[in-house]
Order: sequence, then structure tokens, then C-alpha cells
Amino acid sequence: YADMAMYEVKRKGKNSYYIYDEEKGANLFLLNDLHNAIKKEELTVYYQPVIDVQTKDIVAMETLIRWQHPIYGIVPPNQFIPLAEETGLIVPIGEWIVKKACRQHEQWRKNGLKPIRIAVNVSVKELQDRHFAKRIEAILTETNTLPEWLELEITESIMVYNEATISDNLRRMKELGVRISIDDFGTGYSSLAYLKRLDVDTVKIDQSFISDCPHSYYGSVITNTIISLAHHLHMNVIAEGVEQFEQLLYLQEKGCQEAQGYFLSPPLSSDEATRLLQKGMCHLQ
Ligand code: C2E
Ligand code: MG
Ligand code: MG
Ligand code: MG
Repeated sequence: YADMAMYEVKRKGKNSYYIYDEEKGANLFLLNDLHNAIKKEELTVYYQPVIDVQTKDIVAMETLIRWQHPIYGIVPPNQFIPLAEETGLIVPIGEWIVKKACRQHEQWRKNGLKPIRIAVNVSVKELQDRHFAKRIEAILTETNTLPEWLELEITESIMVYNEATISDNLRRMKELGVRISIDDFGTGYSSLAYLKRLDVDTVKIDQSFISDCPHSYYGSVITNTIISLAHHLHMNVIAEGVEQFEQLLYLQEKGCQEAQGYFLSPPLSSDEATRLLQKGMCHLQ
């Protein structure tokens, strides 16, 4: 998706958006049909495995949304999540993803697979909705999913909002037993007080630090420090964006519990993920 970075999202009329290509000066995507994407079943979920660094067992799957656009093909989340956030569509989309994730989890359990955690990315906008916690609770009940299997991935940037609705939703989730994880850890808000305040279960070391490991001094020191912080605070730690065997060895040596990345497995379709879970381990290259 590298090329997509130069496109800029522009508003055009009330419910109409497009991605503006600075260089070509052309409207590449008409995104006013995002409204109908759920109904038309164009949204789809991929699952990326998280493995236990020591045993190589799959311990979690992270759900990553894709939009299979009839004309433009697969549109990555960075291209339409900002639109969905701006228009408020992220609320129904987010609810749809949690439902999809929990139904998939239920299906895996029914197939007799060993239960694993299912992680879902959640935006600030979803947590600003008063009914968020209630809806998640209803989905867990409907799919017979134990709350401890669900992990909500939020980013540090959520903390700058300091809104009662957000903390109420997160507190209700924690009370229920849902796990909270901090995504892209180390790239956002600098105060660490929220780790304690939110009773965070997992931190995910941002892939920019992992990609610098083990050769760059800064990347390695930051990675080690996050691993050590997580251990001392009795939190789980996941390294994101592991692309090389060397990085995995490094993480193993430093005692990082879990890892995720192309070296282990790319995000998979539901069928591919199911087959991998039946095998129980990622196929290491
Ligand atoms: P994220 O949650 O930090 O997810 C990690 C991103 O890195 C994913 O991109 C994943 O495909 C990619 N990735 C995984 N392994 C590697 C690797 O080894 N190397 C590299 N370079 N990249 C790797 P993706 O799927 O395009 O998602 C991008 C972001 O979009 C996510 O970042 C997340 O913030 C957001 N997102 C994805 N799905 C959802 C969703 O359902 N809801 C919300 N609100 N946001 C989502
Ligand atoms: Mg994530
Ligand atoms: Mg991340
Ligand atoms: Mg990210």
C-alpha cells in the first residue's frame, strides 16, 4: 500500500468523499459508497496470528479489516478508517467487526480448536459512544464468548481525550473481564500513568522499534525497555512487525512473550486462519 500514503482524503459534499492524488490531481476513489459497504457485504476481516515466542503456539488472532471495493479492489484500513471515523460510520462498522470476530471465535470453539484470544482494533470514536460497552456485552452474550477471550486494542492517543465516556466504557469492559491492549506502544502519548489507571493487560511494541532490531542501538534499547517495563508491571508484551528470523531470536533472548509479523504469518482469510489453527502453529520459513 506504500503508494497510497500520498493520497489525501478530501470532502466533497455531504456524504461524499474521495481520495485526492496530489501528483496526478485526479480523484482516485469515490468513497461515498462506504455507507453501503456493510449492507453490500464488501467489508471483510483478515486474521493475523500472534505466537508465543517460546513455544511457537498461536495464542491470539488480530482482526484486521479490509474493504473489497467492486471497482478499486482491496482498500486497506488506513484508506477508509479515517473516513469512517469522520462520518461516524466507524460505530456500526466497529460493531460489525466485533460481532464478526466473536462469531469466528465461536465457530473455532465449536470446531474443537483450542481457544485463543481474539483482538479487535477500536478507535477513539467508538469509545466516545455511550452505548459501546453495552453493545460489546450483548455481542459476547449472543456468541457465548467469554469476555477474557476478547482483547480490545486501543492506542495511547486515546489518553489525550480524557473524557468520562471513554473511561466509563473502558472500565465497564475491564469489569466484565475483557482485555485491554495498547497498540503501537511507544509512539504516542508519553505519560505512562494510564497503564496503571486503565489496568492495561498487554502492550504491543510498535513495529518501527522492531524493524530497527537488533542492529540499531535506539530500536534495541527501546524494545528492551518496553519488555522490561511490561514484565515489572505484570503485563503481557507483543512485538509487532517481526519480519526477520534474527528479530525473533532477539525477542526470544530478551524474554518477549509474544510476537506477530510477516515472518510468522501475514494476515489471513477466515479459511486460511482456520487451517492454520488446525495445525496449531505458524509455519516458520
Ligand atoms: P495495527 O493494528 O497496528 O495493525 C498492524 C498493521 O501492520 C496491519 O496493517 C498489518 O497487516 C501490518 N503488519 C503485520 N505484520 C507486519 C510486518 O511484519 N511488517 C509490516 N510492515 N506490517 C505488518 P493493516 O491491516 O493495513 O492495518 C493498519 C491499521 O489500520 C491497523 O494498525 C489499525 O490501526 C487499523 N485497523 C485495521 N483494522 C481495523 C479495524 O477493524 N478497526 C479499526 N478501528 N482500525 C483498524
Ligand atoms: Mg492492532
Ligand atoms: Mg500496531
Ligand atoms: Mg497502527
